[in-house]
Amino acid sequence: MLFGAHVRGGSDLAGALKRGSTMAAESIQIFVGSPRAWHTPLISEDRLENWRSEREVYRDIRSVFCHATYLINLASPDAAVYEQSFNCLVINLTNASLIGADAVVLHPGSHRGQGLENAITQLAKAIPLALDASDATCKLLLENSAGAGSSVGRTFEQLAQVIHHTGSDERVGVCLDTQHLWAAGISFLDIKEVDKVIESFKRIIGLDKLGCIHLNDSKVPFGAGVDRHANLGEGFIPEEGMGLLLSHPDLTNLAAVLEVPGESGQGPDRNNIVKAKGLYARGVAARRSFH
Ligand SMILES: [Zn+2]
Ligand SMILES: [Zn+2]
Repeated sequence: MLFGAHVRGGSDLAGALKRGSTMAAESIQIFVGSPRAWHTPLISEDRLENWRSEREVYRDIRSVFCHATYLINLASPDAAVYEQSFNCLVINLTNASLIGADAVVLHPGSHRGQGLENAITQLAKAIPLALDASDATCKLLLENSAGAGSSVGRTFEQLAQVIHHTGSDERVGVCLDTQHLWAAGISFLDIKEVDKVIESFKRIIGLDKLGCIHLNDSKVPFGAGVDRHANLGEGFIPEEGMGLLLSHPDLTNLAAVLEVPGESGQGPDRNNIVKAKGLYARGVAARRSFH
């Protein structure tokens, strides 16, 4: 498993590689645009060149993910919001492809009263169009949701339905966020529950669709239905379950990317990477003792 972190891109995109490397991350996630503004410019040639040469330098960063702009809601019944969302996603995908990212992670959005079924059909129609419009060379990963309000993607079934309706487009996969699982009421306290979660993911969505893990503890209790990340070991998710999940043999080839507040509130840090590796090692040891 590669342990990674969301890092600031900022005006100097390539600086994200150094920031990741400094905290011993082996994978990074960045924004390729403003996280909270519709307007995202294309990455300039200069910055691209810089990025490409810095990637040669920071070879310890083995994979790069881009988190799509938070405003995007392709499930919205509002035509103007949908239009802005679509255009914004196209730019996100274009930029991610330009920097050679592995994937763009996207929140499936909220149906805002139009109903789950309509939203799923609308999303599934939009995704391949956006991938085509951007000539994307990266994947698009739908992130499971914590289940707030009318959000889409709380269950594996909902994510599977979206993928199914894209015609099982091979460019579309899933990102599993541990905090969102917990908040959505999907329990992984012991080995039995962990194995059950992975088995149901495989049966309902398929392991080949799993593109990355978002590794976050939870500021809210089990089933609370809201998206609130805590530093590892400081939230409600018991360490035993988290370790057993990370060390599941089917997840070994994936990146686990931290999106935690960090000790100083500035985002993921070296401490959380160390804790992640500790949880993983604990899980591996516990699994050994079961055999
Ligand atoms: Zn996440
Ligand atoms: Zn989240």
